[in-house]
Amino acid sequence: MDITNHEIEQLLKTAAEWAIAYRQALGEARQTPAIGYHEARARFDMPTPEGRTPARAVIDELATLAEDGLHAMAGPRFFGWVVGASHPVGVAADWLTSAWGQNAGDQHVAPAAAAAEQTAAGWLLDILDLPPESGVGFVTGATMANTVCLAAARGAVLDRAGWDVEVRGLFGAPPIRILIGEDAHTTVFSALRFLGFGSDQVSRVETDAAGRMRADAFAKAARAEDGPCIAIAQAGQINTGAFDPFAEISEAARGRGAWLHVDGAFGLWARASPARKGLTEGVERADSLAVDGHKWLQIPYDCGYAIVRDEEAHRRAMTITASYLPGRGPGERCPGDYVPELSRRARGFATWAMIRHLGRGGIAEMVERHCEIARRMAERLAAEPGIAVLNDIVLNQVIVRFGDDAVPEEGDRLTNSAIERIQQEAICFVGGAAWRGRRVMRISVISWPTTEDEAERSVAAIIDAWRTVRDG
Ligand SMILES: *Cc1c(COP(=O)(O)O)cnc(C)c1O
Repeated sequence: MDITNHEIEQLLKTAAEWAIAYRQALGEARQTPAIGYHEARARFDMPTPEGRTPARAVIDELATLAEDGLHAMAGPRFFGWVVGASHPVGVAADWLTSAWGQNAGDQHVAPAAAAAEQTAAGWLLDILDLPPESGVGFVTGATMANTVCLAAARGAVLDRAGWDVEVRGLFGAPPIRILIGEDAHTTVFSALRFLGFGSDQVSRVETDAAGRMRADAFAKAARAEDGPCIAIAQAGQINTGAFDPFAEISEAARGRGAWLHVDGAFGLWARASPARKGLTEGVERADSLAVDGHKWLQIPYDCGYAIVRDEEAHRRAMTITASYLPGRGPGERCPGDYVPELSRRARGFATWAMIRHLGRGGIAEMVERHCEIARRMAERLAAEPGIAVLNDIVLNQVIVRFGDDAVPEEGDRLTNSAIERIQQEAICFVGGAAWRGRRVMRISVISWPTTEDEAERSVAAIIDAWRTVRDG
């Protein structure tokens, strides 16, 4: 034994102490890292270790080296990107997941991991009110969820055209038409690239001012040609939070025999809130959906779900078989049938724990609270001279512009300066984005510790920073 039971105890308790101290200080911590990338590089950089370092000393060293380079993304005033805040219940479940060291690929080899995942999959479909027969793959995030769903889509539409892509590959296959909104998330294009769809095969559908696909433009594009077709819609536009008109889109897609995929990385969680569910009407008719666990569900990274209504198509695209694996008996769910990886961590445990902790009601309350806070922040900011809110606050996303827009370049400059100033003050974190050719500041309200008071403190910091920039 190169590490004794006593040392294991000391080691894991040390890690817990570091984690506890970090999380307890987070509410008052400065928002951005105290040191930048280059300094962090210099601190971690050292010659390849030749010999051993005692276990506990390694963890102390790691925590000490990392400390100044950590961004308070799990804190209450992070609005930078649409990401969750690693809820302590998820963190604790994740610790156990690592300690247990289960290879989650097979239900007989790791029964508890498979069972927790299967129950969590059922809970997800229930809370999101999606067809209970759907396949659910536990992947690393929405990028991979989109990839898995679109792989299932590719196989299914080619299968209908008499082509088995799993056996024959893509060379010589009938062309597949891809319809996608102009304001789709960039990672969907990555997924399309991974799957062998070049950019020329993609038809971009016109969107409205909020970034929603126009239903008439979609229907027209769908009618334009026949043959295999995959339509990609979106629940929650990354800047505006807007939802595509799923009812109309799903009808046109069905009329055309197209597979409808929905990227709902964060927005699909609107379905968990009775007050917001209407925004997603019609999404339940989609053939596949991608949604994240590490966004609104607050699970630690990496966690996303690929949901495919036709479970057969899902498994056809992903199944791995090998002579040394036990295989799948009747009525069994093999976790490896729904994801690209063979060996992987048991992602189901953290999802099981988070849903068990929050419950349907807790998730609804959190989504609703974030939407309400976003609305209030927008209202407060818009009341300040020189600040304009550019979107309707339908969900949790706010896009903001600073300065008088008579000269757009001047507005871009002031918006950049305001963002920079806010980041320097490090009370809260907001990022920049481009929207309709202009620079904007984006606020995403999606962290579980964000309360109205924390939002108010952040709004005050944003307004202060803006006044300094304006009067400077
Ligand atoms: C975050 C996001 C993605 C990518 O998800 P990852 O979890 O970062 O891989 C895709 N689409 C939308 C709309 C997103 O918000």
